Amino acid sequence: MKLTRLFAISTAVLVTLICLMLSRIIFAEWSAYQSSRNGLEAMQVAYKAMVLAEKVSFERGPTNGVLGDADQHDPAKRARLAKVRADSDAAMADLAASLRPEGARRQDEATQSLQKARSLLTAARAEVDQVANLPLASRPPERVMGAVHQMFDVIPVIMEAVTILSRDAEEAYPRFSDALVGARLAAELREYAGRLGSQFTAALTEQKPLGAAEQQGIHVLRGRIEQLRMLIELPTHTRETDDRILAAAREMEQRYFGDGMAFIAAVERASAENRPYGMDTAQFAARYVPDMASIVQLRDVMIKMAIEGGKERNAQARRTLLSMSLLGAITLLVVAAVFMVIRQRVLRPLLDTTRVLVDIAQENLSTVVPPADRADEIGDMLRAVGALKEGSLERRRLEEERGQLIEELRQMSSTDFLTGLLNRRAFAGIADSQIASARRHGSPLSLIIFDIDHFKKVNDQYGHDAGDLVLVEIARIARVTFREEDFVARHGGEEFVALAPHCELEPAHVLAERLRLAIEAATVLLPDGRPLKVTASFGVVALSRPSDNLDALLQGADRALYAAKEGGRNRVIDGATRLSA
Ligand code: GH3
Ligand code: MG
Ligand code: MG
Repeated sequence: MKLTRLFAISTAVLVTLICLMLSRIIFAEWSAYQSSRNGLEAMQVAYKAMVLAEKVSFERGPTNGVLGDADQHDPAKRARLAKVRADSDAAMADLAASLRPEGARRQDEATQSLQKARSLLTAARAEVDQVANLPLASRPPERVMGAVHQMFDVIPVIMEAVTILSRDAEEAYPRFSDALVGARLAAELREYAGRLGSQFTAALTEQKPLGAAEQQGIHVLRGRIEQLRMLIELPTHTRETDDRILAAAREMEQRYFGDGMAFIAAVERASAENRPYGMDTAQFAARYVPDMASIVQLRDVMIKMAIEGGKERNAQARRTLLSMSLLGAITLLVVAAVFMVIRQRVLRPLLDTTRVLVDIAQENLSTVVPPADRADEIGDMLRAVGALKEGSLERRRLEEERGQLIEELRQMSSTDFLTGLLNRRAFAGIADSQIASARRHGSPLSLIIFDIDHFKKVNDQYGHDAGDLVLVEIARIARVTFREEDFVARHGGEEFVALAPHCELEPAHVLAERLRLAIEAATVLLPDGRPLKVTASFGVVALSRPSDNLDALLQGADRALYAAKEGGRNRVIDGATRLSA
């Protein structure tokens, strides 16, 4: 697999894994945040339900007032009832508005309880109004009691909603479950404390001792209240309990269980001893109700602390969610940056280097080595590759130089140093193969030998250098006179030889004659300006017998040359390869 492909695939896999991990983490944080938010909302809603319970409880006092009203209706009593009813209604509306069907899980159930509570309350109020509007004499005590009980019966239904809603909050915030349970118990305690007070309504209204049923009721309620007191106290006296809760609990102990209960006991004692109470229901309420406020106080402190804690938790969950999201984004960015850097600074230079190395291996030295501007390992590698390329270039240059030298040497070994013509050895090689080829093909071939006349004299008269000049000039004339396909060589001293392939004896003779005339016509100018004229004698032979070789041709031509010298020089004589007379 190609490196780039491998890199792309591993990048994709890694990024996918990181994304999966991040989304898992962020989802978990988001769920925590969501559940803490729902829990907080549930706490707030539960608190509203407790307030509603308290308001409906509180409605019973003015209800009792109106139920015991004389035929001449007291507008103040009616107004008070209307006021507390409006308060309950407002609390009910507030709670109903806070219940959202898409909210925490149990809000549907709570909504149902609340609807039931509302219809019970509406029915109870209707009964209360009906009974209160009857003339005092025809208000049967059972109906009065019935109406009062209907009012009582609303509370458990509301408390049911409180319990349902608290459970959501407790699930979200197990840490605050003590406080939530405590608040709920306090709300219940407030209800029973109210009921306890109600037991005295009839006795106080009629200023008679408590009846047996009422005494029994007080007994039961007191037991229930003690039970609730213990249940509340258990969790409020652990070490982690907040000071504010402890203070509120102490206040309740003092106010309600101290003063309030002492007051109740005193009224009970007056009843038992058949003494006058010295107070009516309103005065009783004015003395007793403020002590109950300490219960509500404790309830509020507990739930408010839970809500506070919930808010803090929620904010923290939100912060964690945000920081996790931010961290996730940063992680992705860093991973992307790391991959980019690896790609840019490692992978790409590596691929470029590979390409360059392949080029160098294939002798393509025009390849460009990427600039090695970084002081890292890749930079070192690029510099090394650059050096390798330089080395290869240098090697190639040396090889070329060597090739040239070899060529020069080869030429030197086959060329006469003075005249630039072929030397005798090179000529022999060429002539052998040309003769063999001519014999093979049956084609003609001629050989011409020529020698400068009285050359010794030139040397003697003008010096050796002048002789050399003459040799060079004769060579030049020979080179331009012979044909392209002919081979001319310096045969030694002032003697030259030429091989004319595809040339019969006669045209060879003509060729030799032309050269003879050209030499005769030429004037060699010596360095001092003196003109010098020379002539040459020629011997020409052609291939004639199948056995003719170079030696036979040379011998034949030599004999003809000798004859030319003998005949007076400056002439061309044809010869034969065969010894003849
Ligand atoms: P002939 O007409 O019979 O050929 O007489 P010649 O003087 O040319 O013949 P000979 O063989 O007596 O003399 C050849 C001379 O050529 C002898 C030698 O000193 C001279 N010679 C040979 N090679 C060179 C050379 O390379 N340079 C010079 N300057 N002279 C050379
Ligand atoms: Mg000579
Ligand atoms: Mg000679």
